[in-house]
Amino acid sequence: MVEHDLAKVGVEGSSPFSRSILPLYFRALARIGREDRQEIRLRSVNPQQRVLSGMRPTGRLHLGHYHGVLKNWLALQHTYECFFFAADWHALTTHYDEPGQLGQHTHDMVIDWLAAGVDPAAAKLFIQSQVPEHAELHLLLSMITPLGWLERVPTYKDQQEKLKEKDLATYGFLGYPLLQSADILVYRAGLVPVGADQVAHVEITREIARRFNHLYGREAGFGQRVDAAIGKLGKKSAQLYVDNRRAWQEKGDQLAHDSARALVQTGSLSAADKEHLFGDLDGSGKIILPEPQALLTPASKMAGLDGQKMSKSYGNTITLREEPEVVQTRIRKMPTDPARVRRTDPGDPDKCPVWAWHEAYSGTEVKSWVQQGCRSAGIGCIECKQPVVDAINAELAPIRERAQHFAGHPELVRSILDQGRDAARMAAQATLVEVRQAMGLAYR
Ligand code: SF4
Repeated sequence: MVEHDLAKVGVEGSSPFSRSILPLYFRALARIGREDRQEIRLRSVNPQQRVLSGMRPTGRLHLGHYHGVLKNWLALQHTYECFFFAADWHALTTHYDEPGQLGQHTHDMVIDWLAAGVDPAAAKLFIQSQVPEHAELHLLLSMITPLGWLERVPTYKDQQEKLKEKDLATYGFLGYPLLQSADILVYRAGLVPVGADQVAHVEITREIARRFNHLYGREAGFGQRVDAAIGKLGKKSAQLYVDNRRAWQEKGDQLAHDSARALVQTGSLSAADKEHLFGDLDGSGKIILPEPQALLTPASKMAGLDGQKMSKSYGNTITLREEPEVVQTRIRKMPTDPARVRRTDPGDPDKCPVWAWHEAYSGTEVKSWVQQGCRSAGIGCIECKQPVVDAINAELAPIRERAQHFAGHPELVRSILDQGRDAARMAAQATLVEVRQAMGLAYR
């Protein structure tokens, strides 16, 4: 059913890999015990291949979301193992007094993800509050996170300033960077796509992971596991690793440390063996929660219709499901260079909000036509805006069509989210098994 409907709207339903390998995988899983399954899942994780990204549900998405986030997701989803989630708990950290729209906003947002081409056969799509492991890890990490770390996150004060009408002196709001850390660490995701203003959130996640590993990382039998991993490097590399480790640990030789890391990194070892050796080298024991890296995404060129940042709260957006006539009307109404009072007045594209849209949508030829025509009063503003209207409508036509299909089949959207939730929970539960064990909670 899901496969059929997805194929109809041009989204791949399941990959040849999943059709050929998954039945064998599930048959094999049925033959082994639950604990063994957890172990297998954990051992096969490669954090450097895992991407985690979330979006707060604010309803239908607009071109700012498309150019700023979704196009990046589309590029990542076939290269990495991607976990994309609707951050509904995060929405409550600031809008706890407006829960009424949360469900509808989440549904609308996910429809727009799918319509934009986010592929549920390639990425896991789910709702944060349906994976309770995020909350459990958040709670457990709160035991070891110093208050000062949360208070100094730059967005804590900024947001309180920006949202003055809200009472944000709450425990949930202070803890939201920690919830973000739990979102990332619960999947052992090594890569987090963020803009420059969000790097501090990844940085605090790294600090928390480091503290956790330092406190709880050394497992029973760690030494034997390290020895076994060294043995797998091959005779020559194993000796080199041991020599370099000694030089680093006894004399602080940084070059030796880097060489040992490179040996581990390039050796054909499992992710778990690499973690043991990195932990061995740095004296932190086993790395249970790997430190993620920020995957810096370029800032979107998409400005709003009035030249400010595109945002629903400024009323300056074009949504992904906008009808062509509405696009035409809204672009035609855009303000232009105030110097062009009459058609015969020359203008300056650098002083006109429409130019930013040409930068996002027009090719070199159209852009030089605008530059020349505007400065010489050779073209009128309505004429200048038309290529932008045409380009937006061409971009939105297939998205609008797919959105209509998904909006008409809510059971299909639910089924995609259910499958995403199950896959996400499997990964999250594997991490929690280790975390509970490390924190002394695996007793009966
Ligand atoms: S011609 Fe184009 S760039 Fe120049 S002021 Fe008019 S809309 Fe702006």
